[in-house]
Formats: sequence, structure tokens, C-alpha cells
Amino acid sequence: MGKRKSRTSKLTAKPKKQLETDFTCPFCSHPGSVQCDIFLKERRPFAVASCSICTESYATKAHALTEPIDVYSEWIDSCREANEGVVAPRPHLDGEAKRRRKTQDDGS
Ligand SMILES: [Zn+2]
Repeated sequence: MGKRKSRTSKLTAKPKKQLETDFTCPFCSHPGSVQCDIFLKERRPFAVASCSICTESYATKAHALTEPIDVYSEWIDSCREANEGVVAPRPHLDGEAKRRRKTQDDGS
């Protein structure tokens, strides 16, 4: 005698307002896969846009007037910058260079 209680629970509508919060992912180009969440109740309000398909995400500061589309367009902007290869500092590589310099010092 299994209970079938949870069968339709997935269809329950979210109580949230239905704003335009689904966007096309700049990484996998999947339409409607990006969701924006804005957390204004945090000490430092922030917003996160993330793709449910490729799990790429982008976080930025938010304020009372921040809307999902703002977060999304900021994400697009930062992607564009990255794609153009403008001064993208790479802390990872930097750390590796330091390590190499150190080993050289040890060797001599
Ligand atoms: Zn994606």
C-alpha cells in the first residue's frame, strides 16, 4: 500500500511574481535556462544568475532597483569582455609563475 501523495507536488506553482527571469545562456546558448535570483535581505545584497543546463553562473552586487535583466546584461557584458581577451588577470597562472621562480632560486 504505497502512498501516492507526492505525485503532483511538482506542479505546484511558485508563489513568486512571474517576472521575466529566464534568459538565454551566454555559454551554452540554451534558451530560458538562465535564472536570476536577487538577494536583497542579505547584509550585502547581491544577485546571482545561473544556467541550469551548463551550471555557469554569475554573481554581482544588487540593490532595491536591481532587476533580473540587469544581472543578466551584466553577465553578458562580462562575458564579452572575457571573450575579447582584455586584461584578464589570471591569478592561477600568476601563482604558478611564482612557484617556478622559487624553485629556480633554490637551484642556483
Ligand atoms: Zn548554460
